[in-house]
Amino acid sequence: MKEIYSNINIIGGGLIGALTAYSLSKTGFTISLIEKKDVYSVKNNLDYRTVAISEGTKLFLEKIGLWYEINKYSQPIKKIKIIDRLQSNTLEFDNTRRESNLGYIVKNKHLLNIVYKKLRQKKNIKIFNNSKIKDFENTNDFIITNTENFSVFSSLNIAADGKNSFVRKHYKIPLFTKDYNKKALVITFCHEKNHYGAAYEFFYKNGPLAILPMKFQNPNFVSSIVWTNEKNYLDEIMKLSNEKLISILNNESQYVVGRIKKILTKQSFHLTAHLNTKFYSERTIFIGDSAHSFHPIAGQGWNLGMKDLENLYYLIFKYRELGIEIGDQLFCKEYHDNNYFNSYRLYQVTDKLDNLFKIQNPIISLGRSFGLNIIQKNKTINNFISDFAMGVNL
Ligand SMILES: Cc1cc2nc3c(=O)[nH]c(=O)nc-3n(C[C@H](O)[C@H](O)[C@H](O)COP(=O)(O)OP(=O)(O)OC[C@H]3O[C@@H](n4cnc5c(N)ncnc54)[C@H](O)[C@@H]3O)c2cc1C
Repeated sequence: MKEIYSNINIIGGGLIGALTAYSLSKTGFTISLIEKKDVYSVKNNLDYRTVAISEGTKLFLEKIGLWYEINKYSQPIKKIKIIDRLQSNTLEFDNTRRESNLGYIVKNKHLLNIVYKKLRQKKNIKIFNNSKIKDFENTNDFIITNTENFSVFSSLNIAADGKNSFVRKHYKIPLFTKDYNKKALVITFCHEKNHYGAAYEFFYKNGPLAILPMKFQNPNFVSSIVWTNEKNYLDEIMKLSNEKLISILNNESQYVVGRIKKILTKQSFHLTAHLNTKFYSERTIFIGDSAHSFHPIAGQGWNLGMKDLENLYYLIFKYRELGIEIGDQLFCKEYHDNNYFNSYRLYQVTDKLDNLFKIQNPIISLGRSFGLNIIQKNKTINNFISDFAMGVNL
């Protein structure tokens, strides 16, 4: 069996794993990235979702030299409107105070392509596509990752293998989990009116519906919808003709971007959330969805994975400068301590937010409407929430 020696071994080459490899290559360590799919094959990359990049994440992408490329494909969010059922019950945030944007919408596909293009130019990164992991062995000095064709010896393993993490199951890390018994329907579409960079989030009884502005695709204005609703209902909706779907979506979106002209893509995702009780185990740390996943209500799941990464990036530089080995118990525990609370907080916030807007009780609805009014008028609360959306106080 072929033996490969790398300081850091990353398992999972999705959005977080690939970005982890790219950013950590700047530490000078040798890195291997093991991905089970063939990421270069088109049929394996049918993710039509967009990601809302927060201002906080953008600053980190700028630091590691990726933002310039990503920005070419991004649509800035200039305004966020939160609508509780009807447009008469609206809360609005804008970007005038910080003179920056509230976020940026980019297609997942573009983001991944940009990162892989950069990864292939890095001499200290080896990418192993189409590779299946069998198991792990731990010696005092190394963690060994055995695949069907080769073994990687490294000081640190980073599990970035998503929600159903094989690595997490291998180490039997206990979880908090929540199944919402709902789905999120993700649709990209052309519409009549200019969105002027506005994002909308409607809160309906069965879940939120977000409309996110996308980059102009000449000659069309384009946006994406993320609609959370009962699983059975969305399964039926997925079977409808595009014509019927458009008429339902026009109604649900209350024509805020004008008439929907054409559906470009549609996909649905089962909604669950989880939080590992620990973000580490024997020379292994968990990052992104392998550590946590959330209800997409706040569009922060990937951004939080990027916050894990930013903290990891500085931690590795710190250990390197102090001449301390990465990957031992001390290192892994410090990584956990730096990241766990952020995830715990977001797990709770997204869950409670979902519940709060679902409630139909007239007294609670009145309280909610009163609350929206206070937030709209109170600059301090309004600023705190817009900073949260921007990922500034994540
Ligand atoms: C509908 C929806 C909308 C969302 N919108 C937003 C948003 O606007 N903003 C935001 O911040 N977040 C958003 N999220 C969350 C975001 O999509 C995820 O947090 C993010 O994609 C997680 O990336 P990841 O790399 O950790 O995991 P994944 O994308 O799941 O990648 C895991 C990778 O590991 C590979 N892998 C799995 N098992 C193995 C194995 N055994 N060996 C090797 N490789 C393996 C997989 O093939 C995959 O490539 C949304 C989520 C949903 C469902």
